[in-house]
Amino acid sequence: MRKLQMVDLKSQYDKIKDQVNASIQEVLDTTTYINGPLVHQFQADLESYLGVKHVIPCANGTDALQIAMMGLGLQPGDEVITADFTFAATVEVIALLQLTPVLVDVDMNNMNISLEGIRKAITPKTRAIVPVHLFGRVANMDAIMEIANEYNLFVIEDNAQAIGATYTSKDGSKKKVGTIGHVGATSFFPSKNLGCYGDGGAIFTNDDALAHTIRGIVNHGMYVRYHHDVVGVNSRLDSIQAGVLKAKLPHLDTYNKARQDAARKYSLALGLNANIWVPTICEACDCHVFHQYVIRILNGKRDGLLDHLQVKGIPCAIYYPIPLHSQKAYADTRYKEEDFPVTNQLVKEVIALPMHTELDDEQIKFITDAILEYVN
Ligand SMILES: *Cc1c(COP(=O)(O)O)cnc(C)c1O
Repeated sequence: MRKLQMVDLKSQYDKIKDQVNASIQEVLDTTTYINGPLVHQFQADLESYLGVKHVIPCANGTDALQIAMMGLGLQPGDEVITADFTFAATVEVIALLQLTPVLVDVDMNNMNISLEGIRKAITPKTRAIVPVHLFGRVANMDAIMEIANEYNLFVIEDNAQAIGATYTSKDGSKKKVGTIGHVGATSFFPSKNLGCYGDGGAIFTNDDALAHTIRGIVNHGMYVRYHHDVVGVNSRLDSIQAGVLKAKLPHLDTYNKARQDAARKYSLALGLNANIWVPTICEACDCHVFHQYVIRILNGKRDGLLDHLQVKGIPCAIYYPIPLHSQKAYADTRYKEEDFPVTNQLVKEVIALPMHTELDDEQIKFITDAILEYVN
């Protein structure tokens, strides 16, 4: 059996080596390391793939979120609502900009931000909602956009884990995730669904004025060379990373299919066990692209299972072990434990299994057999 890994980037690279190497060689041969033609080509390719008017590449996903919030003109003291159960980057940039993070609980069925939680958290100071499409599963964007319209709020989609996923609205229309809110932010961290070989990120929007503002912010607040109109940042996707991404983008749908296939096999093997909650695979749509395959162990044996799998040489991880409201950096007397029953339960039950584009049947069987033999 091939070695088990949480993410197998080497086997994936081996299959696209020629395309990736040619892209990188092009940058080296032309010495266009910064803002080279490949950056613009990748930007245009991604705009057409997503069906969005503007993609603004930047240095990483955390920057993408921060710059999106700067672009919207959010001011210190403005309240920004986001999920308690997510990677810390989402809340980190809110705090960094001296906005007020307002954490709300998530839903048990999809682990995404709770609509009821959003409604309860809205105050006259609320300016924005940041839904996170956690683990690759699309949040309920129809309802989130409705709430946003009702209260005149911005929606910033944290799409770091769901690039390539499609959202189908109630009216049947389909949109790529990250292009539904006012602005979307993504990450090209190597292990993400579309990963480069270093750091990278991008911001998406259909709003021409916002795109213009953001293009200045990523470049030191310059709209005309050496005229700094606003305080900006230096956040670029370098040409080598753009070259890697340009070579990988045509494979993204195949990669996401491979993730969905692996998820289907996991869920088929584990789903009949009453002590294991598995994510559902929606056959008719691409609403879940399985950045992570996360199950819940319902009989209190999660931590034991972690040890059991470790002994068997099966890598696994806990995303995320501590709710954000319990983190030292983000704790606040405003938060009460009873406001986060779902997150508080999830952190004790979740376990992420190996998930990537190169999993084979033998590996999946070995992993699911080991889980079933312990959890029973
Ligand atoms: C990875 C990730 C980010 C940050 O992306 P970086 O490129 O690592 O800065 C933000 N939000 C979520 C939900 C992520 O998973």
